Order: sequence, then structure tokens, then C-alpha cells
Amino acid sequence: MYKRILLKLSGEQLQGQFDGGFDADRAAWIADEIKKATSAEIIVMIGGGNYARGAQLVGKGVQRVTADNIGMMATIMNAVALADVFNSKGLAARALTNLTLDQVADQFTHRRALSHLAKGRVVIVAGGIGRPYLTTDTAAVSLALELECDAILKATKVDGIYDSDPTKNADAKKLVTLTYQQALEQPDVKIMDKAALGLALEHTQPLVVFELLQLGNIAKAIAGEKIGTTISS
Ligand code: UDP
Repeated sequence: MYKRILLKLSGEQLQGQFDGGFDADRAAWIADEIKKATSAEIIVMIGGGNYARGAQLVGKGVQRVTADNIGMMATIMNAVALADVFNSKGLAARALTNLTLDQVADQFTHRRALSHLAKGRVVIVAGGIGRPYLTTDTAAVSLALELECDAILKATKVDGIYDSDPTKNADAKKLVTLTYQQALEQPDVKIMDKAALGLALEHTQPLVVFELLQLGNIAKAIAGEKIGTTISS
């Protein structure tokens, strides 16, 4: 059983039944799933790909820094809506942001995050690291290190990492455990960007990749049950 975990949710997971944007029903479903694991302290690093990704917006005059700022603002939209839905479902939550937007959400500080956790609240962190040229995956690893999380649980569409693409290869085998070195070297492993994996490798931060949309999976991952793929040193 992990005591403190970082749950990485991508923006796509919040769009639920829609092609983009925020699906409150999906957010409510996630709240119910997190409630099954009440004893752990939970930090959520939220993505923004359901609204905007920097790399896709850049060009035709839009600069990379501008595009990434838009991407980070997208994560703030997700975080404040997610916090509202969690609170409405009886799951106490607060949104903090690393990209300052004072009127919308409190700025992330280490002490503020710890104080919310001590009060039993889920801390939802937006704005990635608050700087361009990064992703919320890298931000997730950095934050998990900063807050001394026992593990990063990365929720995905698939039930773990395979030795080849399971949608193209019927013989693809699921890997139950993987070292960071293997994850970095395998071209088929695209579960996280290399910067994120490199940071996790350097600091031996355990990472579990698991399928979100299975009832009980978040609680199982937090309980340390062997689901998905565990990456460690
Ligand atoms: N982003 C950034 N710095 C960060 C985190 C995110 O510039 O520290 C930007 C980047 O443009 C990224 C976008 O915010 O594409 C949304 O984050 P991400 O793509 O990681 O979201 P996800 O794919 O998890 O939904």
C-alpha cells in the first residue's frame, strides 16, 4: 500500500465521451474511483491535451513559447473543473497551479501542497512545471520527487506496456516489469517522453502504467497490486 502517490491524468482522459473539452461525467467517475482508495495521500498532475498541446499549435506565426503557454492554460481549465467535480462528489480537492493565474487558482507552493494533503485533500496540480518546452509527464516526475511520492501512477488507455504495438501485432506481449533503461531504449515504448523517463531513472522514482477505465484499478494501483506495468531501476 502506497502512502502518497502521484496520479498522472492526461487531458484526453477528461474529455470522456466528447472529441475534446471536459466531460464532467468522466470526472465524477474518476472521483468515485479515487474515493475507493481513501487512505492514501493523492496528488493529481493534470494534462491539457483535450484543449491544446503546444507542439500542435505552433507555426503560422504562433511561437512555441506562446503555444506552450496555451497548453499550460489548458491544464488550468482542467484542474479547476476537476476540483469542482471532486468536491461536489464529496472528495475534498484543491487546484494549485505552477503557471500563475491568480484570479483562477492558487499558485502551487510546496508548503501549500503539503498543508492540503495533511487536511486529507486531493491536490490537483496544473500548469506543468510552469515553463515551456516541457510536458505534464516531465512535470509529474518532478512533482513526485518534490513531494516524495512513493510512486507515480500513470493512467492510460492500455493495460500496460507491450513489447510491440498490440493494435498491430497479435503476438505482442505485455511486460509486467521493466527497467528505466529498457523503457528508454525500446523504440516501441512511447508511454512517457524521454525527458520524464530520464528524470525518473536518475532518481529511481517508481512508475506504474495502468489502464484507467477499469473499475477498481486506481485503488488497486495505490494498494500496490500488480496491475499494468511497473517501471523501476
Ligand atoms: N506544457 C508546458 N510546460 C509544462 C507542461 C506542459 O509547456 O511544464 C504545455 C505543452 O505545450 C503541452 C501542454 O502544456 O503540450 C499540455 O500538456 P500535455 O501535452 O503534457 O498534456 P496531456 O498530453 O497529458 O493531456
